[in-house]
Amino acid sequence: MAHLDGKTAVITGGGTGIGLAIAKRLAADGAHCVLMGRNLERLQEKAAGIDRARAERCDVTDPDSVRKAFAAARETRPVSILVNNAGIASSAPFHRMSEDEFLRIQDVNVTGVFRCTRAVTDDLRAADYGRVINISSIAGLSGGPYISHYCASKHAVIGMTRALAAEWAKTQTTVNAICPGYVRTEMAEGAIRTIIEKTGATRDQAIAELAKSNPQGRLLEVEEVAEIAGWLCHPDSRSVNGQAIALNGGHSM
Ligand code: NAD
Repeated sequence: MAHLDGKTAVITGGGTGIGLAIAKRLAADGAHCVLMGRNLERLQEKAAGIDRARAERCDVTDPDSVRKAFAAARETRPVSILVNNAGIASSAPFHRMSEDEFLRIQDVNVTGVFRCTRAVTDDLRAADYGRVINISSIAGLSGGPYISHYCASKHAVIGMTRALAAEWAKTQTTVNAICPGYVRTEMAEGAIRTIIEKTGATRDQAIAELAKSNPQGRLLEVEEVAEIAGWLCHPDSRSVNGQAIALNGGHSM
């Protein structure tokens, strides 16, 4: 028997990148994964390739959409694992950052995490096993230029993680954050495109620029993040609670 047999895991932004890799990892440990996101067709296509997985349309910025998606996810059994992975990024110097853009990022990256976690709170507080995994970022632990809105959002996610872990410490649910450096996904592609546009660098130079922020001099692969999520979901990881786990090749925080 696999240790996640019979458990439902919801992964927001589960149709691409890190979220998809986490869904595959948790499914390999026996979980029934529910991939949530805005593009139902893409989610269904990805879910079809994962054992016991299904898809639910969910826009984490829309409370009604979140309510419906989680009601559907809980139809057969309560949600045991929530991976708050949906996220967006952009870049702008602070003196050109609009309030709308600042709030757009917070709505997905912070309030989206709040909405989805609230949607499973009753399940998780009563459960004899539960996991919340928030995908923050190295930008949640340190600052960087041109991403003040993203840094603020990812720091906020770590604050929420720590507070909730303290509040739920007497329950059987742990709450942790994973904080990767640059990971080879569509989001990192966006950063690569921006460097090319703004500096005239070649693609290889742009990738090298991102890789510089990792002492190992490379971009992470999605499977490396998924592996940590899988480990956090293991029953023997229950003492790990309220942590912000940095994955960036040796960058000390
Ligand atoms: P990605 O763009 O492939 O994944 C983001 C996912 O979130 C997509 O599936 C997207 O459709 C979904 N999403 C965006 N807005 C949404 C909304 N309103 N409702 C529902 N879903 C929504 O990129 P990724 O790198 O896999 O990002 C996953 C998470 O990892 C994000 O939270 C991101 O901030 C974080 N992260 C990424 C990196 C990186 O370098 N790629 C580094 C650190 C942290």
